[in-house]
Amino acid sequence: MIPSDGQHLVAGEGGASHMRFASPLEALRTVFGYDSFRGDQAAIIDTVIAGGDAIALMPTGAGKSLCYQIPALLREGVGVVVSPLIALMHDQVDALRRNGVRAAYLNSSQSAPERSIVERAYLAGALDLLYIAPERLNSDHAMEFLARGKVALFAIDEAHCVAQWGHDFRPDYLALSELAVRWPDTPRIALTATATAATHREITERLQLQTARHFVSSFDRPNIQYRIVPKIDVRAQLLAFVRGAEADTPGSPASGIVYALSRASTEKFATYLSAHGVTALPYHAGLDAATRRDTQDRFLREDGIVIVATIAFGMGIDKPDVRFVAHVDLPKSVEGYYQETGRAGRDGDPAIAWLTYGLQDVVQQRRMIDESPGDLAHRRRLSAHLDAMLALCETVECRRQNLLAYFGEASAPCGNCDTCLEPPQSWDGTVPAQKLMSTIVRLKRERNQEFGAGHLIDILRGINTARVTAQRHNQLATWGIGDDLSEQQWRSVARQIIAQGLLAPHGEYGTLRVTDTASEVLKGARTVRLRAEPDKVARQRTAKPVAVAANSHLTTEQLALFERLRVWRATEAREQSVPAYVVFSDATLRAIAAQNPTTLEELLDISGIGITKRDTYGEAVLRVVSEATS
Ligand code: ADP
Ligand code: ZN
Repeated sequence: MIPSDGQHLVAGEGGASHMRFASPLEALRTVFGYDSFRGDQAAIIDTVIAGGDAIALMPTGAGKSLCYQIPALLREGVGVVVSPLIALMHDQVDALRRNGVRAAYLNSSQSAPERSIVERAYLAGALDLLYIAPERLNSDHAMEFLARGKVALFAIDEAHCVAQWGHDFRPDYLALSELAVRWPDTPRIALTATATAATHREITERLQLQTARHFVSSFDRPNIQYRIVPKIDVRAQLLAFVRGAEADTPGSPASGIVYALSRASTEKFATYLSAHGVTALPYHAGLDAATRRDTQDRFLREDGIVIVATIAFGMGIDKPDVRFVAHVDLPKSVEGYYQETGRAGRDGDPAIAWLTYGLQDVVQQRRMIDESPGDLAHRRRLSAHLDAMLALCETVECRRQNLLAYFGEASAPCGNCDTCLEPPQSWDGTVPAQKLMSTIVRLKRERNQEFGAGHLIDILRGINTARVTAQRHNQLATWGIGDDLSEQQWRSVARQIIAQGLLAPHGEYGTLRVTDTASEVLKGARTVRLRAEPDKVARQRTAKPVAVAANSHLTTEQLALFERLRVWRATEAREQSVPAYVVFSDATLRAIAAQNPTTLEELLDISGIGITKRDTYGEAVLRVVSEATS
């Protein structure tokens, strides 16, 4: 086992770091076992190796880490990486050591003697990479001891934390501008997966990166399939979805995250899924720290765990093989939604982002905005966020196009979202919209009454509920004029015309009022296009199976070998107490299963196996392969 303290580093050890690399590509192949660079990686790496500053905006999973790890291996001195998340730091250092890179970290989880071992290793030049928490770096002590050694480069990870108006501001990041002053000749690279132009500007200014080269990647995540469905029976829909996602990864249940708004509902959904044979665990801020840590550890280390969480979960979860992210409540903004769904499929294999939402979500969110503290401008901002989210949900066009356009990126229809795969029918909903609106207008004018969608639909469908009878609403002119549509269809009509801004819910009960634009529809001056929807859960369930098809090209024998390799990896990971993917990724195991290597040399041809991993795990892997094939 590779020790996790700093001691071996001082003594020095074998591995990649003792080699000299002729080029970044040679380092990529020998150390990390990959064939070629992706996207902007090569250009960023060249910039930093040449001593220039860089700002890299790349989506999750694009491969930001290599952009500073490889320059650190090629430049003289130690690459210093500022990283805000301690758990992530541990895993990254573990993963690097398994590739033979001399890496260590400094953070508050260590004792003083442990830290001084790492500091001595740094000063002795026995490190390639040193990860450090921002609050630790911002001390005279840290700055002074770093200055006594040789810094190859500074990498500032999660650089959006410097943006004061962003969603994840950390004051310690502001002090990082000091690095530019103390080390004017040392290259600095800032990296983030947050896309907006405002954040980009703040990073440039606050970190004093005015002369840096900017690398802005596409934020598309082509391997993620986006699906948004109307909410009918949310528990049954979720279960069917999770099972469908599992069915497509034969042999091994998929890891996934389900996001819900409230703590109570995370518990409820987790219990429901568990009762139906899914290994599901709740996660929210109300659980004690130990439980939260255990849940997170299990998710990272075991295969096939489903976490049902509030958005408290996910920040700093670097698990590459999350196969789906499901939302059972409407997210408050497209930014939040994109960040949460981005946690799926970091390994580049197919993954699904699934969201279900209904009339109630819209009503509830409007109410929360109405009741939210803060001034009018603040409520307007919240409202604009919600409108953008609703537009995404209701679009009859490509979801991805809509998402990327939101981040300022033009694109063609993607072919990998629900609307591209099963183009929705749209229909002329002008008449139903008029019926609903005129019911609202009459009730207001004739009786000065307001109601929520449920009661209005009862009136339209001519249902004699106790309330209808008591209020004598069966005497209204519009009573029963909508019995051609089912209740479900009416709810869909109401939801969509709210989303289009023709109706606005108000107050605690979400009573509906017509807006100014509604009068155009009532006068017949404007038509209403609506998205046709399945009327029952069953229809959704039989919709095309979700496309988590990473294993689909494997034969039955290869699949069996893949499963054996996963079992071996699980044992290995448990013994060394690291996440499974730190040993090998699914993609690497799949490639082994497909290629059936019989020699150590052949193993080197497989993506994800460099020299050190071959030396550490090669024999064991070949044993599993030969046992399975003999
Ligand atoms: P990010 O930090 O941008 O989310 P990571 O640096 O964690 O992404 O990389 C995501 C995954 O892609 C990792 O498993 C990494 O090893 C892999 N990866 C990165 N670059 C390459 C490459 N050039 N070829 C193959 N795999 C790569
Ligand atoms: Zn599409």
